[in-house]
Amino acid sequence: MEANRIYNFNPGPAMQPLEVLKEAQAEFLNFHDSGMSIIEISHRAKQYDQVHQQAKVDIKELMGLGDDYEVLFIQGGASTQFAMIPMNFAIGGKIGNYVLSGSFATKAYQEAEILGTGHIAASSKNTNFRHIPVQDEICISEHAAYLHICYNNTIFGTEYHYIPEAGNIPLIADMSSDMLSRPLDFSKFSLIYAGAQKNLGPAGVCVVVARKSFLADSPKALPTMLRYDTFLKKDSLYNTPPAFCIYMVGKTAAWIKAQGGLTAMAARNEKKAKLVYDAIDNSNGFYHGHADKDSRSFMNVTFRLPNEDLETKFAAEALTHGLSGVKGHRSVGGMRTSIYNAMPYEGCEILTDFMEKFRKTNA
Ligand SMILES: *Cc1c(COP(=O)(O)O)cnc(C)c1O
Repeated sequence: MEANRIYNFNPGPAMQPLEVLKEAQAEFLNFHDSGMSIIEISHRAKQYDQVHQQAKVDIKELMGLGDDYEVLFIQGGASTQFAMIPMNFAIGGKIGNYVLSGSFATKAYQEAEILGTGHIAASSKNTNFRHIPVQDEICISEHAAYLHICYNNTIFGTEYHYIPEAGNIPLIADMSSDMLSRPLDFSKFSLIYAGAQKNLGPAGVCVVVARKSFLADSPKALPTMLRYDTFLKKDSLYNTPPAFCIYMVGKTAAWIKAQGGLTAMAARNEKKAKLVYDAIDNSNGFYHGHADKDSRSFMNVTFRLPNEDLETKFAAEALTHGLSGVKGHRSVGGMRTSIYNAMPYEGCEILTDFMEKFRKTNA
């Protein structure tokens, strides 16, 4: 770790790979001998096009997807996808189906509701979103347009450990907080999206990976920038794309490839998560995990301490150990440590050493 950097456990914007940040810093003033910064180059120029195309190629290669899938770069964050999905697909009397597994899943559903088309196929709200609904809990409506799930629930610290079976209904997933963190059979999904600021780069771009045939025809009454077919047909270059964000996403994808791809990423992430969950499980009840064990996230670890005073103290003392961003979201309380792809194993070791020390002095 660099001397003046800290271990940042923030949920997003989140810690990014140091190598990626350094590379961007080194070429910021003069991108590939162009005499210009990447943020000054025309988005129609050859140098930018290379960045744009390579990012797409690397993302698809990492996900093991072929020519029937396309990568789109859309602004407005994952939150704009919440609206674009029902606007583009829940049409002609078809109904958007949603599994409510946390805050963002619920927000996605609420956008469909605004458009008058949402159906709750399953919900774990009654357990304060401690668990991921299992297949048997999911009830898809008649005339379903799609089934929408949130694969990793950033706030509650739960993650799917199976891909729901949706029959012939298109499956859509918000993977904002676990995109490219492990291999999956991504071909089971018609559309996957992820705001970049957790696992992929800076805020400002949402990466959408979808079946081309699914995106081909948006309803004629939709404005240009809200139609998926605009992004498909114009290669996400209908208007000026967030070039710097896409450049950073591309560098991050290349970094993941260099680490050994998604299989290697998953092994690293599981090892890190095990360390932190073990610290919780072996604390004689001092730390109490929020998520049910079989729904635990590899990306966001949520836990409580015996009382709120200790939680405040924990966050303050963590900071003096170079550990920032450990405070949980207000809807769960307690702590949340986000350990995305870029968090090194050593960061988790320092965290768990601190947790153990804190427990011994405060139990
Ligand atoms: C952060 C997050 C969002 C919101 O992303 P924005 O880019 O801020 O709109 C949506 N879904 C999940 C799972 C997230 O973690």
